[in-house]
Amino acid sequence: MATPARSDLAELERSALEAALDARGYKIFHARQIFRWLYRRGVTDVEAMTDLSRDLRAALARDFTITTPELAQRETSSDGTEKFLLRLADGRQIESVFIPDTPSMTFCISTQVGCAMACAFCLTGKMGLVRNLTAGEIVGQVRVLAGMLGMREKAFNIVLMGMGEPLHNYDETMKALRILTDEYGFAMPPRRITLSTVGLLPALERLAKEIVMPNLAISLHAPTDALRAALVPLNQRYGVADIIAACQRFPLRKRSRITFEYVLLAGVNDSPDDARRLAKLLTGVKSKVNLIPLNAAPCIPFERPADVAVDRFAKILADRGLIVSVRKSRGRDIRAACGQLIVEGQKRSAGQQLAVLM
Ligand code: SF4
Repeated sequence: MATPARSDLAELERSALEAALDARGYKIFHARQIFRWLYRRGVTDVEAMTDLSRDLRAALARDFTITTPELAQRETSSDGTEKFLLRLADGRQIESVFIPDTPSMTFCISTQVGCAMACAFCLTGKMGLVRNLTAGEIVGQVRVLAGMLGMREKAFNIVLMGMGEPLHNYDETMKALRILTDEYGFAMPPRRITLSTVGLLPALERLAKEIVMPNLAISLHAPTDALRAALVPLNQRYGVADIIAACQRFPLRKRSRITFEYVLLAGVNDSPDDARRLAKLLTGVKSKVNLIPLNAAPCIPFERPADVAVDRFAKILADRGLIVSVRKSRGRDIRAACGQLIVEGQKRSAGQQLAVLM
């Protein structure tokens, strides 16, 4: 008779782990100990969980694995940004980024391998969707980065802004958030987690009812439907007005605001008129705007605007009362465009022209 496949402890919420322990005749409080070992101490082997009985460790080793993403490549920028290329159990690769001062420490993590959203300025979008990440793989990035950076005991932020559209992988992303915020695991306060979406509205409506509520960031990138549809194809389904209306309905915590991300592309969406339209669009929305001058990369058919154009755009918004930040140019010496490490790695290993355009 075939041996049943072992479950993965890294994929279990604490409630599911408690149920698994109970079913095996063990006390459910051991789930707290196991969570502490996995997330606070970074253990990847049940034998190292020394406050569990030998008997329980043997049962866990028999019935469970602990899958952890492996480091394939690590690059450090002169500005302190670090980019991690991680290999998953099936050999697929994803990127996670550590950004040291934004204003506190931030991990930018992925939710999918590739992405189906096909935004015109994004390397990951050129890959198409390869597959969703599991909750364990999403949290696994945090386990690996916190361990490698010596940050298990330190406070950090998480932004779901790496590869993929988190709301397109809704259930696993939400499960990952529940694991990340579990008081016996990383115990991340939800206000330290930001979920970024291009505006999958049905999923955004679901998110509005979640118990674990991250901060919300909307990847807007254009103030009109015509321009946005050219940059973000999903806009053909959910237009700018619908997104703004959904944002106005979204239940925000006290003093919190929705971040609107706006990638500035030279000569495309960076004119003073675009800034004025954006300011008008966001009137009455509890918002802040994060301007992101493009991290140019080969095969992205757009240019980064000159600093003067960025400053002019920001000033028009600020003069109209909006809170504006301009993302610092980060990690440009380590191929900081999302997806760049992977796409270049594919190019090197395949030694051929990429089917994906980067
Ligand atoms: S910008 Fe985000 S949503 Fe758009 S293709 Fe890239 S990863 Fe996907």
